[in-house]
Amino acid sequence: MEVFKSITPIIELIDKAKSIVVLTGAGASVESGIPDFRSPKGIYSQDYVYRPEKVLSHNFFMNQPKIFYEYYKENIIHTEALPNPGHIFLAELEKTGKVKAIVTQNIDGLHQLAGSKNVLEIHGSIYSNHCVRCHEAYNINYVLNNVDPIRCLECNGLVKPDVVLYGEALDNDIVLNAVEEIVKADLLIIAGTSLTVYPAADLVKYGKKTLLMNLSKTSGDIYFDYVYYGKFGDTCREIQNKMNKIE
Ligand code: NAD
Repeated sequence: MEVFKSITPIIELIDKAKSIVVLTGAGASVESGIPDFRSPKGIYSQDYVYRPEKVLSHNFFMNQPKIFYEYYKENIIHTEALPNPGHIFLAELEKTGKVKAIVTQNIDGLHQLAGSKNVLEIHGSIYSNHCVRCHEAYNINYVLNNVDPIRCLECNGLVKPDVVLYGEALDNDIVLNAVEEIVKADLLIIAGTSLTVYPAADLVKYGKKTLLMNLSKTSGDIYFDYVYYGKFGDTCREIQNKMNKIE
């Protein structure tokens, strides 16, 4: 593992790469005002009667949907958030043909809002919701505008966000698709994740050349070829400015 001290070698890596896949975690949206889980100001540090892993679990949702939705609406849904320079830079790189796919653990939809097209949401999205009984689809406004617990208009079943809760399996097709994209790419960039959530933390092993861009050290840093410590949005803004000057 080599630690980059400046953005220059990152620009060189991006320049040389013909196909890039980027995997983003909660840290990539912190500069958009959405707290991550495990940073000092993250959701795990908040005082709440239940631990986040408990209230955001499948069992808790099924048994106590009212409390789940109170917590979820208060802490997890951030429809006011806007893409930061990190999201915007990745969308620009996709337009140039370099970035082939974004694999994201985030459920906030900010990559799509920034203009990215090929986004694989391995933990789902707050914007998609379904009835657990009849599978009728509901948009986020239905969730936001209804009182807890939120019930299906067709069958009165519970409406559940299509986000992967603790105790739920990931969509195998999306994970396989992510692995295929990573295997095809010649550079894998992973940004803003503590690398504690699987299988995302495991995907680094499929990358040919791997770069981690994170604010703080993680126990997974040693599995990368290159590591850069810094804020993702700020760093991307700097990179984009420098690349524009070079062109
Ligand atoms: P995490 O909270 O476990 O770790 C975040 C990592 O990002 C930390 O290592 C932290 O140092 C780093 N970080 C914080 N700010 C950063 C910045 N500005 N630039 C670069 N790095 C920064 O997040 P995780 O590993 O993604 O796991 C959390 C899980 O919770 C994910 O699976 C995700 O689905 C979910 N989650 C999503 C959102 C979202 O959609 N925005 C927010 C919180 C949690």
